[in-house]
Amino acid sequence: MKEQVLKWANILGETGLFRLLCPGTLPVFMLHRVTDGNDGVPGRMTASQLRRYLRYLSNKRYQVLSMDELWQSLEEAREIPSRSVLFTIDDGFYDHHDVAANVFDEFGFQLNFFVITGLLDQQLWPWDDQVSYAIRKARVMRSNLELPSGSVFSVNLEEASAETVIRELRDALKTGPQAEVYQWLREELFRKLEVDYPSSAPAEYRPMSWSDARSLRQRGHGVYPHTSSHRILSSLDPAEKRKEIWDSLERVGKELSYSPRVFAYPTGRPSDYDHHDIEELRQAGFNMAFNTVPAYVRRGQDHYQLPRFSLPENTADFLQIVNRLEALKGKLRS
Ligand SMILES: [Zn+2]
Repeated sequence: MKEQVLKWANILGETGLFRLLCPGTLPVFMLHRVTDGNDGVPGRMTASQLRRYLRYLSNKRYQVLSMDELWQSLEEAREIPSRSVLFTIDDGFYDHHDVAANVFDEFGFQLNFFVITGLLDQQLWPWDDQVSYAIRKARVMRSNLELPSGSVFSVNLEEASAETVIRELRDALKTGPQAEVYQWLREELFRKLEVDYPSSAPAEYRPMSWSDARSLRQRGHGVYPHTSSHRILSSLDPAEKRKEIWDSLERVGKELSYSPRVFAYPTGRPSDYDHHDIEELRQAGFNMAFNTVPAYVRRGQDHYQLPRFSLPENTADFLQIVNRLEALKGKLRS
């Protein structure tokens, strides 16, 4: 029933009615992993589904904005075009370069990459992905983990699904101190679940290279820092969070020979960063930063807290955001 309603609402949305009723709204999408089918990439966004979305936008003459065009709309008195979207992709894995970028290139659309510089430097792979990896490979099904916060997290893979345990453990780690999270993963999680700790990122979590990143910039895409270790800024002490921002800025600047002005917060909930981080970004020369609040970008909003929608796996949900039905629903609710 709900699907039928959404289907008809999306058909109505194609007329441009909702865009007309909700002017000045821009959906910014956030992608994570993109698989070309059988390469073991975690996540369910396939290259063919992504291509379907971009073909729709291309056929309907949507404008895929560049970061510069977004900046001009926010800063100068230029309206956000009614038929527009913007795409970002987080973390810097190999499939972002090998798969996702190629799909965008087929349509001549810009994709904006937020990269964890420690991942590209092959110093680490993201703590949240290490949680998934360890839980999926666990050889011990029940264990009591002592979290960095000191509280106990009980893993019971006989009763709960791996997905549930991954989500709950990540959430528990998000709320605690993260300074030592990488050490904790190795010494507590991997050890207690009897999973061998890989000496480098496992194949499915390997990064793109800096040379890949340079190629992306040459092809007209954007590459920006996303901290050096992906630890949640609000969980770190002032010196450490400052270092996350400045080090990642310095690495991207050095490898790509330019000064990045755009940033994305790790995990991106409003509780994952604070006004000190925003001030630090300003001082480091950034002029825009993205979180992960699912909402439309509008003119006049805080440039350091720009929201993003996760790119839906389902076409009807994608269309509802693109045709601004989601904005209309928000308007009606308030
Ligand atoms: Zn991220």
